[in-house]
Amino acid sequence: MAAAIGRYVTQRPHNATRRPGSGEPFGADPGRRPGHGHGAHAGGTSILQRDGAPQAAPSTTRNGNDRRRGARYPCGAPPSPPVHARADSTETSVTRQQPAVLRDGTPIAPLPKVSLHDHLDGGLRPQTIIELADEIGIDLPEGDALALARWFADQADSGSLVEYLKTFDVTTAVMQTRQGLRRVARDFVLDLAADGVIYGEVRWAPEQHLARGLSLDETVDAVQEGIEQGIDAVRHSGHRIRVGQIVSAMRHAGDGREIAELALRHRDRGVVGFDIAGPEHGFPPSLLQPSFDLLASEHFPVTVHAGEADGLESIRGALDDARALRLGHGVRLAEDIEVDDEGDDDATFVTLGPLARWVRDRRIPLELSPSSNLQTGAIEQWGDELFDHPFDLLYQLGFTVTVNTDNRLMSATTITRELQLLSDAFDYDLDDLLTFQLNAAEAAFLPVERRDELADLIEDGFDDVADGVTAE
Ligand SMILES: [Zn+2]
Repeated sequence: MAAAIGRYVTQRPHNATRRPGSGEPFGADPGRRPGHGHGAHAGGTSILQRDGAPQAAPSTTRNGNDRRRGARYPCGAPPSPPVHARADSTETSVTRQQPAVLRDGTPIAPLPKVSLHDHLDGGLRPQTIIELADEIGIDLPEGDALALARWFADQADSGSLVEYLKTFDVTTAVMQTRQGLRRVARDFVLDLAADGVIYGEVRWAPEQHLARGLSLDETVDAVQEGIEQGIDAVRHSGHRIRVGQIVSAMRHAGDGREIAELALRHRDRGVVGFDIAGPEHGFPPSLLQPSFDLLASEHFPVTVHAGEADGLESIRGALDDARALRLGHGVRLAEDIEVDDEGDDDATFVTLGPLARWVRDRRIPLELSPSSNLQTGAIEQWGDELFDHPFDLLYQLGFTVTVNTDNRLMSATTITRELQLLSDAFDYDLDDLLTFQLNAAEAAFLPVERRDELADLIEDGFDDVADGVTAE
């Protein structure tokens, strides 16, 4: 039986002024500790559990809008509204027109960040695609970087899965050589660093990069070389970043055993985790059971795309069959949260099912990607605007939420931009953003002492940015 766990205020106006401190959960200091995903803002009304204990207050509005937007993509997204694509290959592929800031003026870009869900073949610079295509003699739909960036945006936003998948045909076509993989991986690291990321995990599927004769091991080595070149370049510029590979097996391509073994061979040479990607619906993790059993026997970290294009059964499979330590998106876990709008005028009761309670109480991290989730239709049952995203519901209920980009090129985004969008929609402050980063640091596929270091760097970096704002 699902337990009723609390009630929350509905209809909080967009960017409404909150009353800090109302609804503080359990007297904790929710903004300062990893894994404590409580926003502690009740939007004006204290929240009481049905047993009388205080409860954090979700502040999302459920508008019941079920208009469909976009197709159900396996993972990835049509882009958000136009942003500037830089033709200069030394710049990040996408930048905002205006500097990203919080309501109090705190800049978001310089805040130290952690990126856990970011696809290598979804984050190329348009100019790099052009140069690599020229080297290997393949035609592109557009010849200059800005037009190519727009082509990606239009294709991905077309609402057609076929058109959307063509974008990955283009990116993977220039990632079939050692040189191409190395270049793309190097750019990837530089772009993360430019976004303020100090630890990133880059996921990709080696089996999709064998068309020009590379072996699986050669592809992983080439990506690792590029990552290390990028890390060196970042270090020379006076910054630091750490990046690990997550090797993905395609869930429609067999039992994945070869890819699991590949990941294990490279576990001390840059590969930190294993993932499955591709069509979620109809391809449960159990199809790759031999891989997951092998990885479990070797105690190798696993994350699984689940709860994006399929619902609770897929999440159950990720946790039970794949023994996933994190959920790739996991946003449809919110289907296991019953929101009762009937009753009190100013409050709504929320009931968690057993699966949602398990994920929350065990602090299983959710790799949420707000723009992508919106554009792929993953959250269509809750609405078609970012404000409808269950992110805030999950956060306020104490889930371990993290903020990710998924495919930076196709979604024309960065972590900075995702944080800006969330802050605009839910009025998050610096402490909220700190919680998201500490959650991600704690969820990283790193040894615990490295995660502690990461958390210290994040806290120090947030303090520095806050002090800079105060000093102005
Ligand atoms: Zn993904």
